Amino acid sequence: MWFRRDENDVVVDEISPTFLNVLSQLDQDAMLVAPGEVVRFATDGVETLNLLRDGRITSPELVALIRVVRRTHQRHIGKIEIPRGPIGEGLRELTVRAIYLEDVDNIVVLLSDESEAERVHEVRRDFVANISHELKTPIGALSLLSEAVLSAADDPTSVVKFATRMQLEAKRLTDLVQEIINLSRLQDSDPLQVATENNVADLINEAIDLVKTTSEAKGISVAAGDIPAVVVLGDSEQLIMAIHNLLENAINYSPENTKVSVSSNVSDGIVEIVVADQGIGIPEEAQDRIFERFYRVDPARSRETGGTGLGLSIVKHVASNHGGEVKVWSSPNVGSSFALRLPIYTPNGGITQ
Ligand code: ADP
Repeated sequence: MWFRRDENDVVVDEISPTFLNVLSQLDQDAMLVAPGEVVRFATDGVETLNLLRDGRITSPELVALIRVVRRTHQRHIGKIEIPRGPIGEGLRELTVRAIYLEDVDNIVVLLSDESEAERVHEVRRDFVANISHELKTPIGALSLLSEAVLSAADDPTSVVKFATRMQLEAKRLTDLVQEIINLSRLQDSDPLQVATENNVADLINEAIDLVKTTSEAKGISVAAGDIPAVVVLGDSEQLIMAIHNLLENAINYSPENTKVSVSSNVSDGIVEIVVADQGIGIPEEAQDRIFERFYRVDPARSRETGGTGLGLSIVKHVASNHGGEVKVWSSPNVGSSFALRLPIYTPNGGITQ
């Protein structure tokens, strides 16, 4: 909290401390501005926003808005843009509510940062646009294939060929819809609120069981090393889904007859579950982007493997919902390792901080 108090400062004294206390408890940042646009009080956030220097407001836009209120004695709501930092072009958009307090001739300024809300809104909008695009591909294929079946009605070989491809596209559609459901459930849920204790070894073994058929079909052995007996708190279904996604990718992006390993180690209250493969690897410049929804390094290959482009963003969500993170190390044509890092739970001590 920022407070200006000097000998001539009678203004704050006339304002009840309770009022200032209320201002400092708000979720929003707030300032109390005396005549001459001198700031008498400001919450910490106002300084973080770089809006103050020596008790003066640095944003001309904000000063102009306050002057309107001082002139009209009317409440005023407006938007201002301020730079995010000393360099770069990033802007922060703030909604400002300025209220005139007649008794003390001061103005209360309430500030709320809409940039974050706007960013979330943009992510949602992009997601919906991407989903529509992703759904159109298999639906379009199904429509074309059904026409092909109809026109090849007299040719049983072609009918079998097209119908088989229809099955594949239908499966792709089902997988996509299922993953979209998984992802939106993850975005809304807090697994730590309805958490159970989960043995890491059990989670790993269940996830390995789920990929048995696909790994065997490619001659890929999936081996788990020694798993330490540790427990993590959370939603077992989500945790298994995350490890399963990492294993599925390891198999999908590896040549036949290679090895996938799952190992686990513990340090500083964190358990790290590492899925390593000897596959095609990921170019360095793509390693940051693979956790984005619908991002694929090679869209054609991903289509071949039936990938939805959502697997890793699901892993990332599961990790962060559980207070953890996911990391990648990869080298093209050598292989990739993904580490799911989660806080260890100790029944008496809770989650180790
Ligand atoms: P997808 O359903 O396409 O596999 P993911 O979100 O799971 O989507 O992964 C995003 C992209 O990251 C994949 O399309 C692939 O290009 C790359 N990728 C993920 N895991 C691996 C891996 N183990 N080896 C190589 N590339 C991988």
